[in-house]
Amino acid sequence: MLTRDSKLSKFTGIRMIRIADNEVKKQLEQVFKELGPSLTEKDTFTRCVECNEMLSDIQKDSVKDKVPPYVFKHETRFKKCNSCGKIFWNGTHLDLVKNFLEKK
Ligand SMILES: [Zn+2]
Repeated sequence: MLTRDSKLSKFTGIRMIRIADNEVKKQLEQVFKELGPSLTEKDTFTRCVECNEMLSDIQKDSVKDKVPPYVFKHETRFKKCNSCGKIFWNGTHLDLVKNFLEKK
């Protein structure tokens, strides 16, 4: 579990990483440093950032009226949260994660 909550990070029984920095790039550096080679690209883009439920692949045609036109035109891969219904696509944060994975 990744958390910024200092009280939550004291729970035991599950592996916990307390995220120290506010900046996304530094947060990723910390996570990759602590998880090392066990983290791969298949471990990314799997859960909803809002409710932490699993994401499922969704056909591009079904999101046409649910994402910005620019995103629909340029992205090919979309996922939908199985719980809240939020739509996700490959964005700058995912590109940042992939760059970290390629460098490690
Ligand atoms: Zn969700």
